[in-house]
Amino acid sequence: MAGDETNGPRGLTCPFEKLRPSQLTRDDAFFMSLAFNLAVDAWRADEVPVGAVVVRAGEVIAASHNEVERAQDPTAHAEMLAITQAARKVGDWRLNECELYVTKEPCPMCAGATIMSRLGRVIYGWGDPKMGCMGGATSLHELPRLNHRVAVTTGVLEGPCRDILRAYFELKRGKDGLGTA
Ligand SMILES: [Zn+2]
Repeated sequence: MAGDETNGPRGLTCPFEKLRPSQLTRDDAFFMSLAFNLAVDAWRADEVPVGAVVVRAGEVIAASHNEVERAQDPTAHAEMLAITQAARKVGDWRLNECELYVTKEPCPMCAGATIMSRLGRVIYGWGDPKMGCMGGATSLHELPRLNHRVAVTTGVLEGPCRDILRAYFELKRGKDGLGTA
């Protein structure tokens, strides 16, 4: 978007541009591009750059990014906010017909929420070997006695989804002297 080069409150300029995917091909990469653009918005708001959209019958019905800092709420992850929005929109807490696109592999909390909301499919960009619970560190969705199976697709636009997170934490460490992400 032209002209919205807003910096985060602490001056962490986002070096990433928004993607401009073709509207003609509505594939996984298309919807992940929308999630990535929300991650850019997150950075510009000085939030950890993770974005998510929920798609139902080819239409985006929820879009969000991480808001932990603004809300001072550790549960305000992109996925949690998107799932809540989607359930409100559908008018049902069961989201079997929905697909969640998220730039980073869901953490334990969010992976749990995808199971509890009976999401049809989760598609993520970067797999998180430390906290990812849908194939990275562990696979919550494969618990043997679950009644609902969430399908998982990994590695969609993995490069940009990983790079924006890495760059954010590198910059933040440099600025705040933080040791860990
Ligand atoms: Zn999470």
